[in-house]
Amino acid sequence: MNTEDFRPEKEIKVFYPPQRVLMGPGPSDTHPRVLNAMARPTLGHLDPVFTEMMEEIKGLMRYAFQTKNRMTFPVSGPGSVGMEMCFVNMIEPGDKVIVCSNGVFGGRMIENVERHGGVAVAVMDKWGEPVDPQKVEDALKKNPDTKIIAFVHAETSTGASSDAKTLCELAHKYDCMTIVDTVTSLGGTPIKVDEWGIDAIYSGSQKCLSCPPGLSPVSFSDRVTELVKNRKTKVHSWFMDISLLLNYWGSAARTYHHTAPTNALYALHESLLMLAEEGLEHSWARHRNNYEALKVGFAALGMDYVVAEQYRLPQLNSVFVPAGVDEKEVRRRLLAEYSLEIGAGLGDFAGKVWRFGLMGTSSRIDKVIFCLNALETILSDMGLKVERGAAAAAAHKSYAANPML
Ligand SMILES: *Cc1c(COP(=O)(O)O)cnc(C)c1O
Repeated sequence: MNTEDFRPEKEIKVFYPPQRVLMGPGPSDTHPRVLNAMARPTLGHLDPVFTEMMEEIKGLMRYAFQTKNRMTFPVSGPGSVGMEMCFVNMIEPGDKVIVCSNGVFGGRMIENVERHGGVAVAVMDKWGEPVDPQKVEDALKKNPDTKIIAFVHAETSTGASSDAKTLCELAHKYDCMTIVDTVTSLGGTPIKVDEWGIDAIYSGSQKCLSCPPGLSPVSFSDRVTELVKNRKTKVHSWFMDISLLLNYWGSAARTYHHTAPTNALYALHESLLMLAEEGLEHSWARHRNNYEALKVGFAALGMDYVVAEQYRLPQLNSVFVPAGVDEKEVRRRLLAEYSLEIGAGLGDFAGKVWRFGLMGTSSRIDKVIFCLNALETILSDMGLKVERGAAAAAAHKSYAANPML
């Protein structure tokens, strides 16, 4: 055998991605400041200059999560690793966990509980609806030995938001701990870890933080540290065991655990810094403002939302595909002609629903108008009766009524 026999058959040249506008369920557009941060010189993961920046990331994350939790740091891995980290550390074989499921990600939580040897009690709600606290309370009464309640704050598969504060109150009333998925909510809608008394929370870098994918901000209360310390069995994952990770992220000694993705962390630092500069309240209001404009634009196109108004997430808009429209062809044309990415429906919503993300840097007036105009043009081309210019005009009217940017 010759070394040349192993070369790829296809001639490979430098990869240069096209510039897209990302308005799907994530990733969102990365701000140039964040992309730039990634191109700075690589440092060793134990370099004192780098470890000082790690402390800043932790401080900025505490602001984003609204917590004083000592154990607040980014996990090296996507949101799914943050999810798994919570379950693998907090569950011991036989532990009972109430999991609220109203979409794809709640389903994955059930999978996590079972894979880690726990007993999942599923509280099911319809896709597109929020978690029903009454059903959770009924399940708690029926299962007084429940140890943890797990739920998704912002269900990205449907665009429904659940009342995290009320669900946490229920957990406290029945002496349970909480695991909360805020992958799509962090930075886009209010999250108050300390005020609501959340025990374990995880998020993702690529949604409302507008950072490239691959990092998962997490935060754990002291109750979780105690719980992990008092486990009877070893955590079933070496990489995700928080007591080991803390020797790197938690202590001043900084002993090697794994090689932290230094450049990716520069990006997270920059995006969290941008969030702090903007201010959380302003960021939440901006996400809402752009949603209001997109919403009236969709109405002008005759498009209906999946989720009832009071439960909608401003950063994830699920709408029904108009009757008779080839939804795949619309997405194909948006990408090919406008370099605009939107999301398809998942599960039962496949082929019936589109998901429009207004997350982080993608939540901006120019992108909202661009998206409405592109969609209107394509739908009109495909024979749908729409009044040309009406969607953008409606959106402009909304911005004029709610000035902020
Ligand atoms: C995107 C998402 C995840 C998974 O994050 P990845 O970074 O794709 O692993 C988990 N939960 C919710 C609600 C999400 O939107």
